Amino acid sequence: MKLVFATHNHNKAKEIQALVPEGITIVTLDDLQCFEDIPETAPTLEGNAIQKAEYIVNQFNLNVFADDTGLEVEALNGEPGVISARYAGEQRDSNQNMDLVLEKLNGIENRNAQFRTAIALYWEGEMHLFEGIVKGTMRTEKSGDEGFGYDPIFEPENCGKTFAEMSLDEKNKMSHRARALEKMIAFLTTKKVD
Ligand code: IMP
Repeated sequence: MKLVFATHNHNKAKEIQALVPEGITIVTLDDLQCFEDIPETAPTLEGNAIQKAEYIVNQFNLNVFADDTGLEVEALNGEPGVISARYAGEQRDSNQNMDLVLEKLNGIENRNAQFRTAIALYWEGEMHLFEGIVKGTMRTEKSGDEGFGYDPIFEPENCGKTFAEMSLDEKNKMSHRARALEKMIAFLTTKKVD
C-alpha cells in the first residue's frame, strides 16, 4: 500500500519507514516532485497536521498523512510546543533551540516535559487524528549525538539516557511518533488495507 507522508524531513521519513509493516510504502513529497514548503500556520499541533494533509489532498487528491510534533515543557507552560522548530528564531537551529530551553529552565527544579505528536490521516474522504506522547525530563546539558532536534536534552522516563544516546531502533520502539503511528496503523488495519 502506498501512502503519502507530507514531509520533506528525511530523518522522519526514515524513522517512519522503519516502523511501518512490510507492504506499506511511504511516498514522500519529494517522490511526488512536490518541493514546496507546505504552510504550517495553525496555533496547535493538530491544526498544523490537518493543514498539511489538506494541502496535499487539494494538490494531488491522494490518501495522505501529516504529522506535527512539539516538545512541551511543564515549567514553560507547554513551550516550545507548536513553535518547537523555530523556538530560537526562523533559522530553525536545533542547538540554538536547545540552548534557549536550557537557559529558560536554568535554576528551575521542575524538569517535567513530554514530546507530543499529532497525526492527521486523510483516508477515503475523511480526516482522522492520532496522538502519541512520551513523558520524560529535561537534562541540564546536552548529551548524545544520535537523533535530531531536542533529542540531546530530553530523557524519556525510566530510560536513564537521552533520546540522542539511543540508537534509531531503540528510539523508534518508544517514540512519540511511533506511538501516534501505531494508532494510525491499527486504524488502517481495521480498514483492511492491502
Ligand atoms: P516536526 O513537526 O516533526 O517537524 O517537529 C517540529 C520540531 O520539533 C522539530 O524541528 C524538532 O525541533 C522537534 N522535534 C520533533 N520530533 C523530534 C524528536 O523526535 N526529537 C527531538 N526533537 C523533535
